[in-house]
Amino acid sequence: MVRPAIVWFRNDLRVSDHAALSAAVAGGRPVVALYVHDDDVARQWAAGGASRWWLHHSLEALGASLHRRGAPLILRRGAAAEHLAAIARETDATEVHAGDAAEPWARAQEVRVAATLAGDGVAFHRHRTSMLFDQDRIRTQSGGPFQVYSPFARACMAGGGPPPPLAAPTRLTAPSRPPRSDRLENWTLLPTHPDWAAGLRATWIPGERAARNRLARFLDGPIAGYAAGRDRPGEDATSRLSPHLRFGELSPAEIWHGVRHAKGAGKFLGELLWREFSRHLLWHQPDMPEKPLRPAFVAMDWRTDPGSLRAWQRGQTGIPIVDAGMRQLWHTGWMHNRVRMIAASFLVKHLLIDWREGAAWFWDTLVDADLANNSASWQWVAGSGSDSAPFVRVFNPMLQARKFDPDGSYIRVHVPELAALPAAYVAAPWEAPGEVLRDADVVLGNTYPRPIVDLAVGRTRALAAHAGLASA
Ligand code: FAD
Repeated sequence: MVRPAIVWFRNDLRVSDHAALSAAVAGGRPVVALYVHDDDVARQWAAGGASRWWLHHSLEALGASLHRRGAPLILRRGAAAEHLAAIARETDATEVHAGDAAEPWARAQEVRVAATLAGDGVAFHRHRTSMLFDQDRIRTQSGGPFQVYSPFARACMAGGGPPPPLAAPTRLTAPSRPPRSDRLENWTLLPTHPDWAAGLRATWIPGERAARNRLARFLDGPIAGYAAGRDRPGEDATSRLSPHLRFGELSPAEIWHGVRHAKGAGKFLGELLWREFSRHLLWHQPDMPEKPLRPAFVAMDWRTDPGSLRAWQRGQTGIPIVDAGMRQLWHTGWMHNRVRMIAASFLVKHLLIDWREGAAWFWDTLVDADLANNSASWQWVAGSGSDSAPFVRVFNPMLQARKFDPDGSYIRVHVPELAALPAAYVAAPWEAPGEVLRDADVVLGNTYPRPIVDLAVGRTRALAAHAGLASA
Protein backbone atom coordinates (compact mmCIF):
# COMPACT_ATOMS: atom_id res chain seq x y z
CA MET A 1 0.00 0.00 0.00
CA VAL A 2 1.28 3.50 -0.85
CA ARG A 3 1.99 5.44 2.33
CA PRO A 4 0.46 8.93 2.54
CA ALA A 5 2.18 12.30 2.65
CA ILE A 6 1.07 15.17 4.89
CA VAL A 7 0.59 18.71 3.55
CA TRP A 8 0.89 21.27 6.32
CA PHE A 9 -0.93 24.42 5.15
CA ARG A 10 0.38 27.69 6.62
CA ASN A 11 0.25 31.11 4.88
CA ASP A 12 -0.91 29.41 1.68
CA LEU A 13 -4.60 28.55 1.97
CA ARG A 14 -5.15 27.52 -1.66
CA VAL A 15 -4.78 24.56 -4.00
CA SER A 16 -3.30 26.30 -7.10
CA ASP A 17 0.41 26.95 -7.41
CA HIS A 18 0.99 25.14 -4.14
CA ALA A 19 4.39 23.48 -4.40
CA ALA A 20 3.93 21.56 -1.13
CA LEU A 21 0.57 20.13 -2.21
CA SER A 22 1.89 19.28 -5.68
CA ALA A 23 4.92 17.50 -4.22
CA ALA A 24 2.77 15.55 -1.76
CA VAL A 25 0.34 14.23 -4.38
CA ALA A 26 3.09 13.28 -6.85
CA GLY A 27 2.59 9.69 -7.97
CA GLY A 28 -1.04 9.62 -6.81
CA ARG A 29 -0.13 9.21 -3.12
CA PRO A 30 -2.89 9.70 -0.54
CA VAL A 31 -2.60 13.08 1.21
CA VAL A 32 -3.46 14.29 4.67
CA ALA A 33 -4.22 18.01 4.38
CA LEU A 34 -3.62 19.70 7.74
CA TYR A 35 -3.91 23.17 9.22
CA VAL A 36 -2.70 23.77 12.78
CA HIS A 37 -3.84 26.82 14.71
CA ASP A 38 -1.46 27.77 17.50
CA ASP A 39 -2.19 31.11 19.16
CA ASP A 40 0.65 30.72 21.68
CA VAL A 41 3.54 30.25 19.28
CA ALA A 42 3.32 33.76 17.78
CA ARG A 43 3.06 35.49 21.19
CA GLN A 44 2.23 39.18 20.64
CA TRP A 45 1.93 38.50 16.92
CA ALA A 46 -0.94 36.04 17.30
CA ALA A 47 -3.61 36.85 14.71
CA GLY A 48 -5.57 40.02 15.52
CA GLY A 49 -9.36 40.26 15.44
CA ALA A 50 -9.73 41.10 11.74
CA SER A 51 -7.23 38.41 10.72
CA ARG A 52 -9.06 35.81 12.78
CA TRP A 53 -12.29 36.68 10.98
CA TRP A 54 -10.56 36.24 7.62
CA LEU A 55 -8.81 33.03 8.68
CA HIS A 56 -12.13 31.41 9.62
CA HIS A 57 -13.65 32.06 6.19
CA SER A 58 -10.47 31.23 4.33
CA LEU A 59 -10.20 27.84 6.06
CA GLU A 60 -13.85 27.22 5.28
CA ALA A 61 -13.17 27.90 1.58
CA LEU A 62 -10.01 25.78 1.53
CA GLY A 63 -11.84 22.92 3.26
CA ALA A 64 -14.60 23.01 0.62
CA SER A 65 -12.09 23.13 -2.22
CA LEU A 66 -10.10 20.16 -0.87
CA HIS A 67 -13.30 18.24 -0.19
CA ARG A 68 -14.45 18.71 -3.79
CA ARG A 69 -11.14 17.19 -4.88
CA GLY A 70 -11.51 14.19 -2.60
CA ALA A 71 -9.67 14.94 0.65
CA PRO A 72 -10.84 16.58 3.88
CA LEU A 73 -8.97 19.43 5.58
CA ILE A 74 -7.91 18.27 9.05
CA LEU A 75 -7.92 21.05 11.64
CA ARG A 76 -5.91 20.87 14.84
CA ARG A 77 -5.16 23.37 17.56
CA GLY A 78 -1.92 23.52 19.58
CA ALA A 79 1.77 22.84 18.90
CA ALA A 80 2.36 21.99 15.23
CA ALA A 81 5.28 19.62 15.97
CA GLU A 82 3.15 17.46 18.27
CA HIS A 83 0.18 17.25 15.90
CA LEU A 84 2.34 16.54 12.85
CA ALA A 85 4.26 13.79 14.64
CA ALA A 86 1.08 12.20 16.00
CA ILE A 87 -0.69 12.30 12.63
CA ALA A 88 2.38 10.90 10.85
CA ARG A 89 2.39 7.97 13.28
CA GLU A 90 -1.35 7.42 13.00
CA THR A 91 -1.45 7.49 9.20
CA ASP A 92 1.98 5.91 8.64
CA ALA A 93 3.01 8.95 6.58
CA THR A 94 6.65 9.15 5.57
CA GLU A 95 6.84 12.77 4.48
CA VAL A 96 5.56 16.19 5.47
CA HIS A 97 5.44 18.96 2.88
CA ALA A 98 4.93 22.56 3.97
CA GLY A 99 5.06 26.07 2.59
CA ASP A 100 7.51 28.75 3.69
CA ALA A 101 7.04 31.64 6.09
CA ALA A 102 9.09 34.76 6.81
CA GLU A 103 7.88 35.36 10.37
CA PRO A 104 10.64 34.60 12.89
CA TRP A 105 8.30 32.64 15.15
CA ALA A 106 7.14 30.56 12.18
CA ARG A 107 10.72 29.81 11.16
CA ALA A 108 11.55 28.68 14.72
CA GLN A 109 8.39 26.55 14.67
CA GLU A 110 9.57 24.95 11.44
CA VAL A 111 12.91 24.01 13.01
CA ARG A 112 11.09 22.30 15.91
CA VAL A 113 8.78 20.48 13.51
CA ALA A 114 11.67 19.21 11.35
CA ALA A 115 13.62 18.01 14.43
CA THR A 116 10.61 16.23 15.96
CA LEU A 117 9.75 14.52 12.69
CA ALA A 118 13.37 13.52 12.06
CA GLY A 119 13.34 11.73 15.44
CA ASP A 120 10.51 9.58 14.06
CA GLY A 121 12.16 9.03 10.69
CA VAL A 122 9.68 11.31 8.87
CA ALA A 123 11.13 13.65 6.23
CA PHE A 124 10.23 17.35 6.32
CA HIS A 125 10.27 19.34 3.05
CA ARG A 126 9.80 23.09 2.90
CA HIS A 127 8.59 24.61 -0.40
CA ARG A 128 8.33 28.20 -1.55
CA THR A 129 4.61 29.03 -1.47
CA SER A 130 4.37 32.58 -0.08
CA MET A 131 7.39 34.31 -1.61
CA LEU A 132 8.49 34.89 -5.18
CA PHE A 133 12.16 34.10 -4.61
CA ASP A 134 14.40 32.15 -2.30
CA GLN A 135 15.51 34.85 0.16
CA ASP A 136 18.81 33.15 0.90
CA ARG A 137 19.79 33.37 -2.76
CA ILE A 138 19.04 37.08 -3.31
CA ARG A 139 22.35 38.61 -2.25
CA THR A 140 24.38 41.78 -2.77
CA GLN A 141 27.66 41.49 -4.67
CA SER A 142 29.47 41.14 -1.36
CA GLY A 143 27.14 38.29 -0.38
CA GLY A 144 25.04 40.11 2.23
CA PRO A 145 21.33 40.92 2.38
CA PHE A 146 19.97 44.08 0.70
CA GLN A 147 18.98 47.18 2.67
CA VAL A 148 17.77 49.25 -0.30
CA TYR A 149 14.80 48.41 -2.53
CA SER A 150 16.03 49.28 -6.06
CA PRO A 151 19.13 47.04 -6.15
CA PHE A 152 17.09 44.34 -4.41
CA ALA A 153 14.44 44.52 -7.15
CA ARG A 154 17.14 44.38 -9.84
CA ALA A 155 18.72 41.32 -8.21
CA CYS A 156 15.32 39.61 -8.07
CA MET A 157 14.80 40.15 -11.77
CA ALA A 158 18.34 39.20 -12.79
CA GLY A 159 17.30 35.55 -13.05
CA GLY A 160 14.35 36.42 -15.33
CA GLY A 161 11.57 36.69 -12.73
CA PRO A 162 9.62 34.09 -10.79
CA PRO A 163 8.93 30.64 -12.27
CA PRO A 164 5.45 30.05 -13.75
CA PRO A 165 2.73 28.83 -11.38
CA LEU A 166 1.80 25.16 -10.91
CA ALA A 167 -1.68 23.88 -11.76
CA ALA A 168 -4.00 22.75 -8.96
CA PRO A 169 -4.33 18.97 -8.59
CA THR A 170 -7.76 17.97 -9.91
CA ARG A 171 -8.18 14.85 -7.73
CA LEU A 172 -6.84 14.03 -4.32
CA THR A 173 -6.81 10.68 -2.57
CA ALA A 174 -7.54 10.70 1.13
CA PRO A 175 -6.04 8.05 3.41
CA SER A 176 -8.45 5.18 4.09
CA ARG A 177 -9.03 6.44 7.66
CA PRO A 178 -8.43 10.20 7.84
CA PRO A 179 -7.35 11.52 11.24
CA ARG A 180 -9.83 13.28 13.49
CA SER A 181 -10.43 16.99 12.84
CA ASP A 182 -11.51 19.83 15.13
CA ARG A 183 -14.66 21.70 14.15
CA LEU A 184 -13.82 25.15 12.80
CA GLU A 185 -16.74 26.72 14.71
CA ASN A 186 -15.17 25.57 17.99
CA TRP A 187 -12.11 27.72 17.37
CA THR A 188 -14.26 30.83 17.93
CA LEU A 189 -12.34 32.89 15.40
CA LEU A 190 -15.44 34.95 14.60
CA PRO A 191 -16.51 37.80 16.89
CA THR A 192 -19.82 37.28 18.66
CA HIS A 193 -20.15 39.57 21.69
CA PRO A 194 -20.28 42.06 20.06
CA ASP A 195 -20.31 40.99 16.43
CA TRP A 196 -18.30 43.87 14.96
CA ALA A 197 -17.66 42.16 11.61
CA ALA A 198 -20.63 43.56 9.61
CA GLY A 199 -18.36 45.97 7.70
CA LEU A 200 -15.93 43.15 6.90
CA ARG A 201 -18.74 40.92 5.63
CA ALA A 202 -20.05 43.76 3.45
CA THR A 203 -16.60 44.43 1.96
CA TRP A 204 -14.85 41.09 1.46
CA ILE A 205 -15.26 37.52 0.29
CA PRO A 206 -12.30 35.47 1.56
CA GLY A 207 -11.10 32.36 -0.27
CA GLU A 208 -9.21 31.33 -3.39
CA ARG A 209 -12.13 31.59 -5.81
CA ALA A 210 -13.03 35.11 -4.65
CA ALA A 211 -9.35 36.10 -4.83
CA ARG A 212 -9.16 34.93 -8.44
CA ASN A 213 -12.35 36.87 -9.27
CA ARG A 214 -10.86 39.97 -7.70
CA LEU A 215 -7.70 39.60 -9.76
CA ALA A 216 -9.81 39.16 -12.92
CA ARG A 217 -11.77 42.35 -12.14
CA PHE A 218 -8.55 44.25 -11.58
CA LEU A 219 -7.16 43.01 -14.90
CA ASP A 220 -10.40 43.95 -16.64
CA GLY A 221 -10.07 47.62 -15.82
CA PRO A 222 -8.13 49.30 -13.01
CA ILE A 223 -4.68 47.95 -13.90
CA ALA A 224 -4.44 50.15 -17.00
CA GLY A 225 -4.71 53.28 -14.83
CA TYR A 226 -2.91 51.85 -11.80
CA ALA A 227 0.28 53.93 -11.99
CA ALA A 228 -1.67 57.22 -12.00
CA GLY A 229 -4.65 56.14 -9.88
CA ARG A 230 -2.96 54.18 -7.09
CA ASP A 231 -2.36 57.33 -5.03
CA ARG A 232 -5.98 58.48 -5.23
CA PRO A 233 -7.85 57.02 -2.25
CA GLY A 234 -11.21 58.17 -3.64
CA GLU A 235 -10.79 55.93 -6.70
CA ASP A 236 -11.03 52.16 -6.83
CA ALA A 237 -7.67 52.00 -8.59
CA THR A 238 -5.69 49.38 -6.65
CA SER A 239 -6.15 45.61 -6.64
CA ARG A 240 -7.23 45.10 -2.99
CA LEU A 241 -5.55 41.73 -3.22
CA SER A 242 -3.57 42.28 0.00
CA PRO A 243 -5.65 40.08 2.36
CA HIS A 244 -5.80 37.35 -0.28
CA LEU A 245 -2.02 37.54 -0.56
CA ARG A 246 -1.60 37.62 3.21
CA PHE A 247 -3.46 34.33 3.60
CA GLY A 248 -1.96 32.90 0.44
CA GLU A 249 -5.28 32.39 -1.33
CA LEU A 250 -3.43 33.36 -4.49
CA SER A 251 0.31 32.90 -4.82
CA PRO A 252 2.41 35.97 -5.61
CA ALA A 253 3.73 34.06 -8.65
CA GLU A 254 0.23 33.45 -9.99
CA ILE A 255 -0.57 37.15 -9.65
CA TRP A 256 2.77 38.05 -11.22
CA HIS A 257 2.21 35.89 -14.27
CA GLY A 258 -1.45 36.88 -14.53
CA VAL A 259 -0.54 40.56 -14.61
CA ARG A 260 2.81 40.83 -16.31
CA HIS A 261 1.61 41.28 -19.90
CA ALA A 262 -1.18 43.73 -19.01
CA LYS A 263 -0.89 47.38 -20.00
CA GLY A 264 0.35 49.31 -16.98
CA ALA A 265 1.75 46.23 -15.24
CA GLY A 266 5.21 47.62 -14.47
CA LYS A 267 4.28 49.71 -11.44
CA PHE A 268 2.10 46.96 -10.03
CA LEU A 269 4.85 44.34 -10.34
CA GLY A 270 7.09 46.82 -8.51
CA GLU A 271 4.65 46.72 -5.57
CA LEU A 272 4.80 42.92 -5.50
CA LEU A 273 8.56 43.36 -5.24
CA TRP A 274 8.06 45.78 -2.31
CA ARG A 275 6.18 42.95 -0.62
CA GLU A 276 9.08 40.66 -1.40
CA PHE A 277 11.56 43.26 -0.10
CA SER A 278 9.70 43.45 3.25
CA ARG A 279 10.07 39.68 3.48
CA HIS A 280 13.75 39.92 2.66
CA LEU A 281 14.24 42.49 5.45
CA LEU A 282 12.35 40.37 7.99
CA TRP A 283 14.13 37.21 6.88
CA HIS A 284 17.53 38.75 7.58
CA GLN A 285 16.51 41.03 10.49
CA PRO A 286 13.99 39.02 12.48
CA ASP A 287 13.71 41.65 15.23
CA MET A 288 12.41 44.24 12.72
CA PRO A 289 8.87 44.21 14.25
CA GLU A 290 10.26 45.36 17.60
CA LYS A 291 13.56 47.11 16.94
CA PRO A 292 14.40 50.14 14.75
CA LEU A 293 16.54 49.09 11.79
CA ARG A 294 18.53 52.31 12.23
CA PRO A 295 20.10 51.98 15.69
CA ALA A 296 20.03 55.76 16.37
CA PHE A 297 16.23 55.57 16.66
CA VAL A 298 16.46 53.37 19.78
CA ALA A 299 17.03 56.60 21.73
CA MET A 300 13.97 58.43 20.28
CA ASP A 301 12.02 60.18 23.04
CA TRP A 302 8.47 59.09 22.10
CA ARG A 303 5.54 60.64 23.97
CA THR A 304 3.12 58.66 26.09
CA ASP A 305 -0.31 60.11 25.32
CA PRO A 306 -3.14 57.55 25.64
CA GLY A 307 -5.85 60.15 24.86
CA SER A 308 -4.30 61.12 21.52
CA LEU A 309 -3.56 57.49 20.68
CA ARG A 310 -7.20 56.61 21.27
CA ALA A 311 -8.41 59.59 19.17
CA TRP A 312 -6.15 58.39 16.35
CA GLN A 313 -7.37 54.79 16.63
CA ARG A 314 -11.01 55.86 16.53
CA GLY A 315 -10.68 58.43 13.75
CA GLN A 316 -11.39 61.42 16.02
CA THR A 317 -8.22 63.50 15.58
CA GLY A 318 -9.93 66.44 13.87
CA ILE A 319 -7.67 65.97 10.80
CA PRO A 320 -10.15 64.75 8.16
CA ILE A 321 -7.86 62.64 5.95
CA VAL A 322 -6.42 60.86 9.01
CA ASP A 323 -9.87 60.25 10.47
CA ALA A 324 -11.20 59.03 7.12
CA GLY A 325 -8.41 56.47 6.89
CA MET A 326 -8.72 55.28 10.46
CA ARG A 327 -12.49 54.89 10.08
CA GLN A 328 -12.10 53.04 6.78
CA LEU A 329 -9.78 50.69 8.65
CA TRP A 330 -12.17 50.24 11.58
CA HIS A 331 -15.18 49.53 9.38
CA THR A 332 -13.68 47.53 6.52
CA GLY A 333 -10.40 46.11 7.87
CA TRP A 334 -8.43 47.83 5.07
CA MET A 335 -7.01 51.27 4.36
CA HIS A 336 -5.73 52.77 1.14
CA ASN A 337 -1.91 52.80 0.95
CA ARG A 338 -1.57 56.58 0.52
CA VAL A 339 -3.75 57.13 3.58
CA ARG A 340 -1.86 54.48 5.58
CA MET A 341 1.24 56.60 4.98
CA ILE A 342 -0.52 59.84 5.98
CA ALA A 343 -2.19 58.39 9.10
CA ALA A 344 0.99 56.63 10.20
CA SER A 345 3.09 59.73 9.67
CA PHE A 346 0.61 61.83 11.68
CA LEU A 347 0.87 59.40 14.62
CA VAL A 348 4.64 59.12 14.56
CA LYS A 349 5.52 62.72 13.75
CA HIS A 350 2.74 65.16 14.66
CA LEU A 351 1.75 63.17 17.76
CA LEU A 352 5.29 61.81 18.37
CA ILE A 353 3.86 58.44 19.42
CA ASP A 354 5.99 55.32 18.98
CA TRP A 355 5.47 53.56 15.61
CA ARG A 356 5.10 50.25 17.48
CA GLU A 357 1.81 51.52 18.97
CA GLY A 358 0.54 52.18 15.46
CA ALA A 359 1.80 48.86 14.14
CA ALA A 360 0.02 47.03 16.98
CA TRP A 361 -3.29 48.75 16.18
CA PHE A 362 -2.94 47.95 12.49
CA TRP A 363 -2.10 44.37 13.47
CA ASP A 364 -5.41 43.99 15.25
CA THR A 365 -7.62 45.79 12.74
CA LEU A 366 -6.23 45.03 9.24
CA VAL A 367 -7.54 42.03 7.33
CA ASP A 368 -4.18 42.07 5.52
CA ALA A 369 -2.10 42.37 8.73
CA ASP A 370 1.24 40.97 7.66
CA LEU A 371 4.28 41.03 9.91
CA ALA A 372 6.78 41.78 7.16
CA ASN A 373 4.78 44.46 5.31
CA ASN A 374 3.42 46.07 8.46
CA SER A 375 6.68 46.42 10.34
CA ALA A 376 8.73 47.39 7.28
CA SER A 377 6.14 50.03 6.31
CA TRP A 378 5.88 51.47 9.83
CA GLN A 379 9.65 51.70 10.08
CA TRP A 380 9.75 53.30 6.64
CA VAL A 381 7.25 55.98 7.73
CA ALA A 382 9.00 56.49 11.09
CA GLY A 383 12.33 57.12 9.39
CA SER A 384 13.98 54.20 11.17
CA GLY A 385 13.67 51.83 8.20
CA SER A 386 16.60 50.81 6.06
CA ASP A 387 15.32 52.58 2.95
CA SER A 388 13.24 55.35 4.59
CA ALA A 389 12.81 58.91 3.52
CA PRO A 390 14.61 61.15 6.06
CA PHE A 391 12.59 61.74 9.25
CA VAL A 392 12.71 65.49 8.70
CA ARG A 393 10.48 65.15 5.65
CA VAL A 394 7.15 65.52 7.46
CA PHE A 395 3.92 64.97 5.49
CA ASN A 396 1.41 67.77 5.98
CA PRO A 397 -1.85 65.77 6.11
CA MET A 398 -3.96 68.70 4.92
CA LEU A 399 -1.79 69.27 1.83
CA GLN A 400 -1.64 65.53 1.19
CA ALA A 401 -5.43 65.41 1.25
CA ARG A 402 -5.75 68.34 -1.16
CA LYS A 403 -3.26 66.74 -3.53
CA PHE A 404 -4.53 63.15 -3.51
CA ASP A 405 -8.22 63.63 -2.66
CA PRO A 406 -8.77 66.98 -4.40
CA ASP A 407 -12.58 66.88 -4.45
CA GLY A 408 -12.71 65.36 -0.96
CA SER A 409 -14.67 62.34 -2.18
CA TYR A 410 -12.72 59.92 0.04
CA ILE A 411 -13.13 62.08 3.13
CA ARG A 412 -16.87 62.55 2.46
CA VAL A 413 -17.47 58.77 2.38
CA HIS A 414 -15.68 58.02 5.63
CA VAL A 415 -16.31 61.24 7.57
CA PRO A 416 -19.95 61.88 6.61
CA GLU A 417 -20.35 64.71 9.12
CA LEU A 418 -18.14 66.80 6.79
CA ALA A 419 -19.84 65.67 3.55
CA ALA A 420 -21.57 68.99 2.87
CA LEU A 421 -18.43 71.12 3.10
CA PRO A 422 -17.12 72.58 -0.18
CA ALA A 423 -13.96 70.97 -1.60
CA ALA A 424 -11.85 73.94 -0.53
CA TYR A 425 -12.50 73.22 3.17
CA VAL A 426 -13.22 69.52 3.52
CA ALA A 427 -9.55 68.74 4.20
CA ALA A 428 -9.25 71.56 6.75
CA PRO A 429 -12.61 72.52 8.26
CA TRP A 430 -10.90 74.77 10.82
CA GLU A 431 -10.06 77.12 7.93
CA ALA A 432 -13.71 77.46 6.85
CA PRO A 433 -15.53 80.74 7.57
CA GLY A 434 -18.38 80.51 10.11
CA GLU A 435 -21.15 80.73 7.52
CA VAL A 436 -19.62 77.93 5.43
CA LEU A 437 -19.54 75.67 8.50
CA ARG A 438 -23.12 76.66 9.37
CA ASP A 439 -24.35 75.90 5.85
CA ALA A 440 -22.72 72.46 6.06
CA ASP A 441 -24.11 71.76 9.56
CA VAL A 442 -20.60 71.49 11.00
CA VAL A 443 -19.96 72.68 14.54
CA LEU A 444 -16.29 72.22 15.32
CA GLY A 445 -15.74 70.68 18.74
CA ASN A 446 -19.29 69.35 18.61
CA THR A 447 -20.28 67.56 15.38
CA TYR A 448 -16.60 67.08 14.46
CA PRO A 449 -13.49 67.48 16.67
CA ARG A 450 -11.07 70.37 16.45
CA PRO A 451 -7.53 69.16 15.58
CA ILE A 452 -5.98 67.42 18.61
CA VAL A 453 -2.65 69.01 17.68
CA ASP A 454 -1.77 72.15 15.79
CA LEU A 455 0.00 70.86 12.67
CA ALA A 456 2.79 73.44 12.85
CA VAL A 457 3.37 72.82 16.57
CA GLY A 458 3.40 69.06 16.06
CA ARG A 459 5.87 69.33 13.21
CA THR A 460 8.26 71.53 15.20
CA ARG A 461 8.07 69.16 18.19
CA ALA A 462 8.87 66.17 15.94
CA LEU A 463 11.85 67.91 14.36
CA ALA A 464 13.18 68.89 17.80
CA ALA A 465 12.90 65.30 19.04
CA HIS A 466 14.74 64.10 15.95
CA ALA A 467 17.43 66.77 16.33
CA GLY A 468 17.92 65.56 19.92
CA LEU A 469 18.51 62.11 18.52
CA ALA A 470 21.15 63.31 16.11
CA SER A 471 23.03 65.22 18.82
CA ALA A 472 22.75 62.44 21.45
P1 FAD B 1 -1.94 47.23 -4.59
O1 FAD B 1 -1.51 48.63 -4.79
O2 FAD B 1 -2.92 46.66 -5.52
O3 FAD B 1 -0.60 46.36 -4.57
C1 FAD B 1 -0.59 44.94 -4.85
C2 FAD B 1 0.10 44.21 -3.72
O4 FAD B 1 1.46 44.65 -3.59
C3 FAD B 1 -0.51 44.44 -2.37
O5 FAD B 1 -1.63 43.60 -2.16
C4 FAD B 1 0.64 44.14 -1.43
O6 FAD B 1 0.78 42.75 -1.21
C5 FAD B 1 1.82 44.65 -2.21
N1 FAD B 1 2.14 46.02 -1.79
C6 FAD B 1 1.58 47.17 -2.22
N2 FAD B 1 2.15 48.24 -1.61
C7 FAD B 1 3.08 47.73 -0.77
C8 FAD B 1 4.00 48.33 0.14
N3 FAD B 1 4.11 49.66 0.29
N4 FAD B 1 4.81 47.52 0.85
C9 FAD B 1 4.75 46.17 0.70
N5 FAD B 1 3.89 45.56 -0.14
C10 FAD B 1 3.07 46.33 -0.87
N6 FAD B 1 0.48 45.77 3.45
C11 FAD B 1 0.09 44.55 3.84
O7 FAD B 1 -0.14 43.66 3.01
N7 FAD B 1 -0.06 44.25 5.18
C12 FAD B 1 0.18 45.18 6.16
O8 FAD B 1 0.06 44.86 7.35
C13 FAD B 1 0.56 46.49 5.75
N8 FAD B 1 0.76 47.47 6.68
C14 FAD B 1 1.12 48.72 6.25
C15 FAD B 1 1.35 49.73 7.22
C16 FAD B 1 1.70 51.01 6.83
C17 FAD B 1 1.97 52.07 7.86
C18 FAD B 1 1.83 51.30 5.45
C19 FAD B 1 2.22 52.68 5.01
C20 FAD B 1 1.63 50.33 4.50
C21 FAD B 1 1.28 49.03 4.87
N9 FAD B 1 1.06 48.00 3.93
C22 FAD B 1 0.71 46.75 4.35
C23 FAD B 1 1.40 48.22 2.48
C24 FAD B 1 0.24 48.67 1.59
O9 FAD B 1 -0.43 49.75 2.17
C25 FAD B 1 -0.78 47.57 1.28
O10 FAD B 1 -0.12 46.41 0.84
C26 FAD B 1 -1.74 48.01 0.16
O11 FAD B 1 -2.41 49.19 0.53
C27 FAD B 1 -2.76 46.91 -0.08
O12 FAD B 1 -3.72 47.31 -1.01
P2 FAD B 1 -3.82 46.67 -2.45
O13 FAD B 1 -3.82 45.18 -2.35
O14 FAD B 1 -4.94 47.31 -3.16
O15 FAD B 1 -2.42 47.12 -3.06
